[in-house]
Amino acid sequence: MSRPSVVVVGGGISGLAAAFELSGGATPSANPPRVEVIEADERFGGALLSTRWHGRNLDLGPDGFLSRRPEALALIRDVELEGELEDVGASGASLYLGGSLRALPDDAVMGIPPSSASMRQLGGLSRGALARARRDELIPRKRRVDGDVSIGEIVRPALGDEIAYRVVEPMVGGIQAGRIDNLSAQSVFPPLLEAARQRGSLLKALSGLSPQSPSPGPSFASLRRGMGSLAERLVEVLAQRDVVLRTGVTVKALRSLGEEYPLGVETDDTLTPAHVVILATPAPVAADLSASLSDGARELTTIDSASAAMVSLVYSSADLTLPEHGTGVLVPLQTPFEGDTHLVTALTFLDRKWSHLRRDGEVLLRAHVGRIDDRRFESLDDETLSQRVHREVTAILGARATPRDTRVQRWPRGLPQYYVGHAERVARARQFLDSFGVLLAGSPYDGVGIPASIGSGRRAGQSALARLTPSA
Ligand SMILES: Cc1cc2nc3c(=O)[nH]c(=O)nc-3n(C[C@H](O)[C@H](O)[C@H](O)COP(=O)(O)OP(=O)(O)OC[C@H]3O[C@@H](n4cnc5c(N)ncnc54)[C@H](O)[C@@H]3O)c2cc1C
Repeated sequence: MSRPSVVVVGGGISGLAAAFELSGGATPSANPPRVEVIEADERFGGALLSTRWHGRNLDLGPDGFLSRRPEALALIRDVELEGELEDVGASGASLYLGGSLRALPDDAVMGIPPSSASMRQLGGLSRGALARARRDELIPRKRRVDGDVSIGEIVRPALGDEIAYRVVEPMVGGIQAGRIDNLSAQSVFPPLLEAARQRGSLLKALSGLSPQSPSPGPSFASLRRGMGSLAERLVEVLAQRDVVLRTGVTVKALRSLGEEYPLGVETDDTLTPAHVVILATPAPVAADLSASLSDGARELTTIDSASAAMVSLVYSSADLTLPEHGTGVLVPLQTPFEGDTHLVTALTFLDRKWSHLRRDGEVLLRAHVGRIDDRRFESLDDETLSQRVHREVTAILGARATPRDTRVQRWPRGLPQYYVGHAERVARARQFLDSFGVLLAGSPYDGVGIPASIGSGRRAGQSALARLTPSA
């Protein structure tokens, strides 16, 4: 066989992780395939992006990752960045309910207080909502859950709309900027599906699930030079390993070529022959690119993504006092604000989470804006959006003066939505594309988040290597 060739389309963290695996992973391979990574943007990293701002390494996309999962930590060690690791400096969060901050109880399971007593302790819920929670414990509704259902379909009948939309949705839906009535319980919140399959009280089943933190110690971590530094380091390592790295080049289509190289990856100016192609792009792009081979992966176009904006704000510490505990505040949708409703879905206390961001006399906040069905922020320019977010911060946290500075980063269609039936949809597309030597990797498929994206990319790299190795 001519020199094996693999093209990775998309240079976000999943595409870079795939290329890293293809070039040998932790130990550089003596005899790797030719690997080319093609990225449409002018830089690698996708959602991982850090910048210098007010003397700090500020993340404009993800600011940390779940360190209870192994994939991100393993990659960070493999590229020798473990000296840069930093554990999260606080825990817990508050919910903004009824115009006040309510600390989430310590026994919350993925942000859900798992008993009526715990719901009462949270505060801010109506008597009717608390009565629904109590009824679930005493005379639970019968339910039968076969296959996948939405998170809303489980929570609303058991606990009522108020708890569903004001407590469960801000936490669970917030991670993907999605709505609980569409998001798949199987793909987004498997413990809830497990609880729903048990008989009796949903709350009791939830509280009986394995504890959230099986091992003691912090569950989130980041890198002192920002999460963007992981992508930068990977690019350095890949360049040393002679991986072909192209930025500012958009892949237009995949082509069927001859026997020697079954696939061609087409851009405006080039056609790269390949034995295997890894598509690490948003799902609708993967559907479009593979459409020139056949239409079998068309279903991927239904994997929608939410747009979001991250607004960073730096205040003088004389002008803003944070609540004593926690890493941030979640804001339920439809929370009234100035005759409208809040745009902000969450506030993160960045310099409480990460010590590398702390500076005397300042408080650094980040506001999350945008949901799958709330794109109001898109019609506001950066200046107007920043002013609006500051007014919302004033309502929620009581800021006493305007921030010293703000910075807006927009992420159009940045957060994939896992709707009901997601796992089957992805499995069907994978099975179909596999017959062409096309593999899928990244956050649209195997979990939203840095560890899941890295795992997805590395597994795709391993599968590609296995396809290149003739079976004995
Ligand atoms: C605002 C925001 C905050 C987040 N916060 C967190 C967090 O705190 N913790 C956490 O763990 N996760 C977080 N996530 C999720 C995490 O960032 C993602 O899961 C992960 O970065 C996705 O990586 P990816 O490589 O799969 O996709 P992407 O980063 O989206 O990369 C896909 C790449 O494909 C490229 N591309 C698209 N089309 C083409 C084409 N035709 N040709 C060539 N290239 C193409 C794109 O330019 C892009 O670079 C956040 C995400 C966002 C958007």
